[in-house]
Amino acid sequence: MQETKIRDYLSENGISPVRKRIKIMSYLISKRNHATAEMIYADLSSEIAGLSKTTVYNTLNLFVQEGIARALNIDSNELRYDADTSLHGHFKCNDCGKIYDFALNKTIMPDISLNNFRLDDYQFSIKGLCPICLKLKKA
Ligand SMILES: [Zn+2]
Ligand SMILES: [Zn+2]
Repeated sequence: MQETKIRDYLSENGISPVRKRIKIMSYLISKRNHATAEMIYADLSSEIAGLSKTTVYNTLNLFVQEGIARALNIDSNELRYDADTSLHGHFKCNDCGKIYDFALNKTIMPDISLNNFRLDDYQFSIKGLCPICLKLKKA
């Protein structure tokens, strides 16, 4: 997504599109790596003058609060951020740590017993070994 489009996207969602926010959203959308705040800071600090970890954390919190990013607690010790807010699950590889997206069938959602509830978040994650790491193990 181009930066002008990201600027509009942030504005439409009630977020003032300052440069640091545009850069962080652009990173999440283009990398699709389910980054931690630490990863984002490490990758962008050379590119954005004066970027602090606090700014990264605050920006991510704002994105989550406004519903344009999800905070994933696949592991209890770290949050991963995803700009794809559509219905999907995550597979985390125990060896390489990579997180893969997979499609979720809508029927997996609890549509009967939670009729009168508002669902704000869901987490569906699986851990295992990805095909690349499995191959390395067998070699
Ligand atoms: Zn792997
Ligand atoms: Zn995802």
